[in-house]
Amino acid sequence: MTNLNGKTAVVTGSTSGIGLAYARAFAGAGANVVINGFGAAADIEKERSAIESEFKVRAIHSPADMTRPDEIAGMIALGETTFGAVDILVNNAGIQFVSPIEEFPIEKWNAIIAINLSSAFHTIRAAVPGMKRRGWGRIVNTASAHSLVASPFKSAYVAAKHGIAGLTKTVALELAAHKITCNCISPGYVWTPLVEKQIPDTMKARDMTKEQVVNDVLLAAQPTKQFVTVEQVAALALYLCGDDAAQITGSNLSIDGGWTAA
Ligand code: NAD
Repeated sequence: MTNLNGKTAVVTGSTSGIGLAYARAFAGAGANVVINGFGAAADIEKERSAIESEFKVRAIHSPADMTRPDEIAGMIALGETTFGAVDILVNNAGIQFVSPIEEFPIEKWNAIIAINLSSAFHTIRAAVPGMKRRGWGRIVNTASAHSLVASPFKSAYVAAKHGIAGLTKTVALELAAHKITCNCISPGYVWTPLVEKQIPDTMKARDMTKEQVVNDVLLAAQPTKQFVTVEQVAALALYLCGDDAAQITGSNLSIDGGWTAA
């Protein structure tokens, strides 16, 4: 069991899905957490206070927009001033847009590159000085199976996720002698509210049963024909933050039901 008592974790895009599972896993291991992301204020407050009451740690929310370098620096500073340190940084905020490249809206390209790739540069840049001073740190980036293989019509997402894999390796090499590791996790299809909400429309559009949509559309690329769960992704991130993972750095860890083995 990884023990993160006394540590602080910042998790971008943690008001939902995988990010929320990371935040809850770190809190469960004893870390104070800075959650981040969009959503209704009441929903965010419910998640934040649930983390505090369930895990007996402190949790604060930063509304920083991951397209804004100034707000990103402010989020790291908030973690440092509130808790005294940012020991663990998880870059997770991400969006998707699907379109043929010749019709891909320029503003969607720019937003995906900003949120899915550049925000990780800005958070790492801001968090590393404190980690170096303290001589310990863990950086975990949420990449994707799309950091290793491509799918058509996802040019910005695939480019950003391949970029995250390269950034991860570079940062790992720069920080290797400082007891700071940097790795990325590459999930396949993960069961999040985002995915679940697509099912009824796809059933109607393709005249398919729920089972057909899941197996033949969503999980077409995933040999196990099962979704990854957010808890499984979070458990891998938690492992990467423990002492047993001190020599794992610069790695891209797949958790994709065999997708990228094909
Ligand atoms: P999600 O939509 O449930 O969560 C995305 C989070 O990012 C939310 O908290 C949202 O508020 C936040 N966010 C979006 N734009 C933001 C911005 N500008 N500033 C701050 N926060 C912002 O998605 P998810 O499925 O949990 O995905 C999380 C990460 O996992 C993403 O990087 C995604 O690419 C990656 N991923 C997801 C899957 C999957 O199947 N769900 C697979 C592989 C990788």
